[in-house]
Amino acid sequence: MAKDTMKLKTVSLIIPFFNEALGVAPFFQRLTQTCDLLKTRYVFQMVCINDGSSDETLVELVKAKETLPNIVILDFSRNFGKEAALTAGLHHATGDAIIPMDGDLQHPPEVLPLLLEKWEEGFEVVLAQRISRHTDPQFQKIAAQLFYKLNQKISQIHMPPDVGDFRLMDRRVVEAVKQLRENNRFMKGIFAWVGFKSVKVPFEVEARAAGTSSFNAWKLWNLALDGITSFSTVPLRVWTYLGGLVSLSAFVYASYIFIRTLVFGVDTPGYASLMIAILFLGGVQLIGIGVLGEYLGRVYSEVKARPTYIIRQVIE
Ligand code: UDP
Ligand code: MG
Repeated sequence: MAKDTMKLKTVSLIIPFFNEALGVAPFFQRLTQTCDLLKTRYVFQMVCINDGSSDETLVELVKAKETLPNIVILDFSRNFGKEAALTAGLHHATGDAIIPMDGDLQHPPEVLPLLLEKWEEGFEVVLAQRISRHTDPQFQKIAAQLFYKLNQKISQIHMPPDVGDFRLMDRRVVEAVKQLRENNRFMKGIFAWVGFKSVKVPFEVEARAAGTSSFNAWKLWNLALDGITSFSTVPLRVWTYLGGLVSLSAFVYASYIFIRTLVFGVDTPGYASLMIAILFLGGVQLIGIGVLGEYLGRVYSEVKARPTYIIRQVIE
């Protein structure tokens, strides 16, 4: 048959797992249903990263591999975080198309055929677009909105607000992403930075299959700082202008006091205004130093050039 002789395209799925022991089996059960429907057209490779789980995730992955030999397991030596896990996945995936997706079934496998369809139409990046954020807590929705608004204003790249890591990338795109060697890997920004022809496909985020999200408010805040500092230097440069503005107002105020003293003589000492000026400027300076620290800390970690992740073993 012509179909058999035709070389099938390989699609690599990159799936990070961190303490998802209960979710592994249901995940593969549902994923294989979708993959089976597509097996006449594509060969699937599943690059699974065990990101230093402290539960039975690795055991479950090995068990899943017994029935699904096309699973590749990258076992990390400790928890390096989702961004590192995705990076490792990109380095090991060999497919013509590569799709990172979460291992908790929040990214439904049923979306895969839709992504592949658009890829076949010639798009190099197919973004899975969340129609709603109903699975996120309220504060997270507001914080995310603020983050994307701020980012839009101060960074040169456009990060679409309703799109996460769930997307299809052509091999060409992945090769481009691999050229970005930075250690501080804000993947969503990196994906946006490389460009290419993209299209969005809407999908509904599902509730977690099992367990709870490992991203708390503090982790998300730090992720947001990574996102901003990785793609914008505006927070560093704004101080020049702020300093200029403060100096200018100081000059105007000084002239006013000088003239007033000449005309009306020495006034009673202004304790309150003095205190306000000291506290205000002290605060502004500390914020400025803090921002410098954010960037300097990142420069420090880049200069050390430590590996993004350490793999204990690759199970192929
Ligand atoms: N994850 C990971 N390393 C981490 C945290 C999370 O590999 O340090 C994985 C996790 O197992 C899941 C995906 O990243 O497959 C998304 O994480 P999670 O569901 O906790 O985050 P949320 O969906 O709330 O953004
Ligand atoms: Mg999740």
